[in-house]
Amino acid sequence: MHFFVILKTLVKNLFSKPATVKFPFEPREYPEGSRGQVVIDTSTCIFCGLCQRKCPTAAITVVRAEKKWSIKRMQCISCGACVDACPKNSLKLDTKYYTPDVTKKEDTYNA
Ligand code: SF4
Ligand code: SF4
Repeated sequence: MHFFVILKTLVKNLFSKPATVKFPFEPREYPEGSRGQVVIDTSTCIFCGLCQRKCPTAAITVVRAEKKWSIKRMQCISCGACVDACPKNSLKLDTKYYTPDVTKKEDTYNA
């Protein structure tokens, strides 16, 4: 009995597509709602600082006078609180692949 179950699974696996993709040679399709890296559109940002105040890990720093927006990538947990709080829809969670980094760097963007 078990033999037929195994045989059925074996035949099914032989003729079905693999569940994985040959990443990075094949592009990865992310499911809807995936959370990636926070990206900013500085052309629409008004440097109000709301994202900074809503961030639970203090990853964002906004300097209004200098029109400067910074994020400490290693501190971000991709919760999306900043994206939801932004009144200008300047932030989004991008699902594009970014090369992992082990340095505690801060990315800074200016208007
Ligand atoms: S909440 Fe939006 S508009 Fe305000 S500083 Fe952050 S990114 Fe800019
Ligand atoms: S996604 Fe969450 S942790 Fe990351 S910067 Fe935005 S509010 Fe902070």
